[in-house]
Amino acid sequence: MKRILVTGGTGYIGSHTVVELLQAGCEVTIVDNLSNSFRVVLERIASISGRVPDFIEGDIRDRAVMEAALKHSQAEAVIHFAGLKAVGESVEQPLKYYDNNVNGTLVLCEAMNACGVKKLIFSSSATVYGDAAAPYREDMPLGRATNPYGASKAMIERILEDQCIADSDWSVGALRYFNPIGAHASGLIGEDPQGIPNNLMPFISKVAVGQLPQLSIFGDDYDTPDGTCIRDYLHVGDLADGHAKALKALATPGYHVFNLGTGRGYSVKEMVETFQRVTGQAVPHVYAPRREGDLAEVWADASKAKRELGWSADTPLEKMMEDTWRWQSGNPNGYRG
Ligand code: NAD
Ligand code: UDP
Repeated sequence: MKRILVTGGTGYIGSHTVVELLQAGCEVTIVDNLSNSFRVVLERIASISGRVPDFIEGDIRDRAVMEAALKHSQAEAVIHFAGLKAVGESVEQPLKYYDNNVNGTLVLCEAMNACGVKKLIFSSSATVYGDAAAPYREDMPLGRATNPYGASKAMIERILEDQCIADSDWSVGALRYFNPIGAHASGLIGEDPQGIPNNLMPFISKVAVGQLPQLSIFGDDYDTPDGTCIRDYLHVGDLADGHAKALKALATPGYHVFNLGTGRGYSVKEMVETFQRVTGQAVPHVYAPRREGDLAEVWADASKAKRELGWSADTPLEKMMEDTWRWQSGNPNGYRG
């Protein structure tokens, strides 16, 4: 497949995937409303790949915009990143999350149907497994989501699976991401959270660059080897490559689910220690109470993606840390200059 429409393509994971697609020779059209990203990302993508992606500033909930984008791009498939992702905000403003994520996906799929485009890759999350014990396998039942963000991902998965059952021309790849971190090796694109980051890696790098005084490690009394929580961190470049590989799975109609993780976990303490060792930057930290809703251990059984897509996330943790720091130190204020 050569012509791809990418929703949310100026965001963190989307921008890395667009680079990957352009470098593979695909024609890419991005639709993004810039609610959580910046137009300058397009220039950065062009600097890295030597090609400028087509860009439409628009909202996935706007049916006319989406139909026009599909026609204009002559897309054979859609990679759908656009969505809101802040767990805490989703608890405070559930309607905003269900509207943007669930309604947005419904409008996108209606537009795709109208235009005869029936191949879709969707950004799902490990959160859909609920509180099952790791490692997670794709054939495990979905768990009960503890927040509207997670519920929106599980709802969308159900909708997409039902659509594949109803129309055998549809093929969907639901990619359940574990914890993407890192940045492009050029240091030109990376994660740029607004305000105080919720996630561990951007928090660590903002402490290291001097914008936050210290990291709070949420809980050191978990039933894990060092008492802190374990997650499956993968390089965003490996994740981007997973999307390119997953496009091939769309040749077979139906609903396909893949975990995208490394298959191994690191503790919060190991993350802090590795970052400090690799970058030589101090990360002052204190121990704080557990964060509500956190699970002790989350990691993927990543064998299905390896077997069926020929994909694995092999970038070592040290390189994830180096790339994070190159991006953060080179762009202390992210894309705001
Ligand atoms: P991001 O916020 O950096 O990118 C999302 C992009 O979508 C942004 O550029 C934003 O402006 C755009 N967008 C949001 N709502 C839109 C709308 N209604 N219309 C058009 N554009 C819209 O987030 P990301 O980290 O790149 O995540 C991409 C996807 O992956 C999201 O769906 C997210 O839920 C999912 N995901 C992310 C993670 C993670 O740790 N980053 C983990 C699991 C799943
Ligand atoms: N974490 C932490 N301090 C922070 C942010 C996160 O100790 O400021 C911990 C968090 O409790 C979890 C791990 O780091 O155990 C990863 O958190 P993140 O929010 O990045 O990912 P998720 O928990 O959603 O997988």
